[in-house]
Amino acid sequence: MNTFIRKDVGTVFVALLPLMMYLVPLDWLARQETLCLYHAITGEFCVGCGISKALVAMVQFEFQRAWSFNRLVVLVGPLLAWQWALFAQRRILGCWFQYTRKSRGHYF
Ligand SMILES: [Zn+2]
Repeated sequence: MNTFIRKDVGTVFVALLPLMMYLVPLDWLARQETLCLYHAITGEFCVGCGISKALVAMVQFEFQRAWSFNRLVVLVGPLLAWQWALFAQRRILGCWFQYTRKSRGHYF
């Protein structure tokens, strides 16, 4: 697989990530054990424990549950949403504008 195709697969994956997070059953996810290495070794929860569940809950507009999973979601959620928006602007809309300009004969 060449670099160009790998980059496109990555773009599609990241573009669809919020949709995939929206489709994860939150009740099922809440019952799963954490994958945290710190928790596996010490039995204690680290500051990041539950942040994945909290982000999924936030994407599904379950803000109270998101807060209960990990309170850092109020910082991490907006930062990731901002990064995703920048990514979408650069990679998705940028590619679309390039494509439409090329199809009309404008290359630059
Ligand atoms: Zn942890």
